[in-house]
Amino acid sequence: MKPGNAILSSYGTTIFEIMSRLAQEHDAVNLGQGFPDGNGPPDVVAAATDYLVHGSNQYPSMMGLPVLREAVARNNKRFYGMDVDWRTEVMVTSGATEALAACLFGLIEQGDEVVLIEPLYDSYLPIVQRAGGVARLVRLEPPDWALPEDDLVNAFSDGTKLILLNTPMNPCAKIFRREELEIIAGLMEKHDAFAVCDEVYEHLIFDGLPHVPLMVLPGMRERCVRIGSAGKTFSLTGWKVGYITASPHLLMPIARTHQFLTFTTPPNLQAAVAYGLDKNDSYFNNLSDNLQVLRDYLVGGLTELGFEVLPCDGTYFITTDFRPLGFNGNDVEFCRHITTEAGVAAVPVSAFYQSGEVKHFARFCFCKEEASLTKALDRLTAHFDS
Ligand code: PMP
Repeated sequence: MKPGNAILSSYGTTIFEIMSRLAQEHDAVNLGQGFPDGNGPPDVVAAATDYLVHGSNQYPSMMGLPVLREAVARNNKRFYGMDVDWRTEVMVTSGATEALAACLFGLIEQGDEVVLIEPLYDSYLPIVQRAGGVARLVRLEPPDWALPEDDLVNAFSDGTKLILLNTPMNPCAKIFRREELEIIAGLMEKHDAFAVCDEVYEHLIFDGLPHVPLMVLPGMRERCVRIGSAGKTFSLTGWKVGYITASPHLLMPIARTHQFLTFTTPPNLQAAVAYGLDKNDSYFNNLSDNLQVLRDYLVGGLTELGFEVLPCDGTYFITTDFRPLGFNGNDVEFCRHITTEAGVAAVPVSAFYQSGEVKHFARFCFCKEEASLTKALDRLTAHFDS
């Protein structure tokens, strides 16, 4: 039999799926995959139920329901001061995952160079390669995840079509500061490149730090595509509603791609997300405040256990160095070990790299009920104390 596509087949099952399956088999507390324990804000869920019964369940507009596109444009103004024309500059997608695919397939030509920053979210590299792009990887490394400016300069060339930037960044919980964004912006202008900005964690930032979209920097409005996700903003990861903001010349090829990928997204979910995006500031503040409490709780517990916990400025995740616990093995072995022996699942950080020496860090997710975190900490304590 003839084989399937070689690029995509070479990737196998994602580490999130593998660890989640293992967690299920061993009845482990799953702090591997990043999804909240709860069921989302009840009023947003009710808006979706209501629309399902009283609204239209037929194909919505390919670009997305106007109410949602208007709400996305308003949010760009409210949070980042950007004037966005919802008619020509906003499109709804089936999650940020589809948004990323639509952007990469829509913008990359065979042989275009694409700058990617490791550690990498799992869908980036396969889609870049399948789109015909040539990846130029720049590595951030624990414990400080600093952006190596020389490496970044070397990764860019006049063949660079775009850089894919994830801030706040999964898994390292880093927020790119304005100075770092300015370096990236300078290189984009020098080499006439675009940026696809994965900002799904834009509202999950702690300690009062600001989220600065690359798109708001001088000269970047026309060069950036900004991607958001209702999954993260409303703790409804199963909904898969994403949204793209980009100037018309960039959005056009992306929309052409979207029409052949999913074409549309369930209308009731879009209507509910439109409702949610207009919630008042206290909703958004509580979202990050509540998560910050959980972050602090898990950081405290893991630190007490002996882990070295790296700083976490945003996202759902903390990265830990497990060497102080005396475990004899690499991160994949450690994560399997604690899943099967302690009943707590985590994700090995090496899975976010193509190669290299980052082999003793585990990512734990804290967007869970406090009771789940307590259970996980109790189990780890019982295991490592024995
Ligand atoms: N980008 C990043 C960095 C993510 O962590 C995730 C979700 N884990 C996504 C994109 C995908 O978002 P969605 O569920 O909206 O497709």
